[in-house]
Amino acid sequence: MLAARMYGYKQPLVVEEVKIPEILADQVLVRVGSCGMCRSDVQLIDGYFEALDVKLPITPGHEIAGLVEAIGDSVPATAQLAVGDQVVVATGWGDGTCRECRVGNEQICEHGSWPGFGPPGGYGEFMPVPYRHLIRVEPKLKWEELAPLTDAGVTPYRGIKKLRAEGVLGPDRVMGVFGASGLGSYAVQYAKLLSAGATVVVFARNDQKLAIAKERGADFTINTRGKSLADLEDELFKLTGARKLDAAIDCVAAEETIQTGIGLLHTSGAFVSVGLVGTKINIPLFPFTAGELTYHGSFWANYSDLQEVLALAQEGKIQHSIKRLRLEDVNENIEMLRRGDIIGRAVIVFDVDRGASGSSGKQLHL
Ligand SMILES: [Zn+2]
Repeated sequence: MLAARMYGYKQPLVVEEVKIPEILADQVLVRVGSCGMCRSDVQLIDGYFEALDVKLPITPGHEIAGLVEAIGDSVPATAQLAVGDQVVVATGWGDGTCRECRVGNEQICEHGSWPGFGPPGGYGEFMPVPYRHLIRVEPKLKWEELAPLTDAGVTPYRGIKKLRAEGVLGPDRVMGVFGASGLGSYAVQYAKLLSAGATVVVFARNDQKLAIAKERGADFTINTRGKSLADLEDELFKLTGARKLDAAIDCVAAEETIQTGIGLLHTSGAFVSVGLVGTKINIPLFPFTAGELTYHGSFWANYSDLQEVLALAQEGKIQHSIKRLRLEDVNENIEMLRRGDIIGRAVIVFDVDRGASGSSGKQLHL
């Protein structure tokens, strides 16, 4: 099979023929239909996750949709998986035994693993997946729409659920979304869907991306390039009648967006970081404590979050901003991703015919 593999840090991936992986008894072999390209793939290549100490070469890619190609011997019938089923991979594979796993948050298991960060990921035609981490879907969405839901399309969803639980969203509230790329173009939609009528303002530095955010439902957009906090407050006031935000989600989480976002937060406001661009949080302490601000970290999403997002998508309630590409063009798209030049989500689409019934056109005999 064809795979794009990483042999070293800060080097292009090598697109090459490799052996189709074997599956363990509790695994399913997935024929990858599509795999989204995430900024964290670029960070992986650039060494951001070097502490994970992964054994190279690896096949990156963690936003995966595909077809069930083969099923391991000990996968129970209750899993209701059949060859040809269309599936997505819920990522963040926990040990299944710790407290976080027991309450369903396997993505924050201390003994977890992630396909594409060790176990083979979706930058290859086939990959093994433990059966518990597959979600069967109706073949309603296009390949390129399905894969990004498993990270870009679900990570902001979980973050905004945390803001909703804080009670800071409602009709008289103003909510900010920082970033309008991969995660941001979904975040603005969940901000509208989950905020019970709040005014949603998207902040980013690229007018083309902001125009898409507007199409996706933003009430207002603000280009932050070259503007001070006071400039942004003035602009926010002109647009919304409020100088501050009651809640915000940061899909970038560079040091500047964190400072801007927290700086724009109203007393008793809440902020959630889902991006990973920066390396530390550096904010003034007194206004944070005296204003009783809340700062949430929110990491990826759990299985249930993904089921909810898939339900929304399958009902046609989510719009997608996608750039399709072939595996052979992965390296030039990594470069574009590094430069911030991708509009929406870049998705590798493989030549896989899922058929009208959702069953695989061509089946592999192991
Ligand atoms: Zn665990």
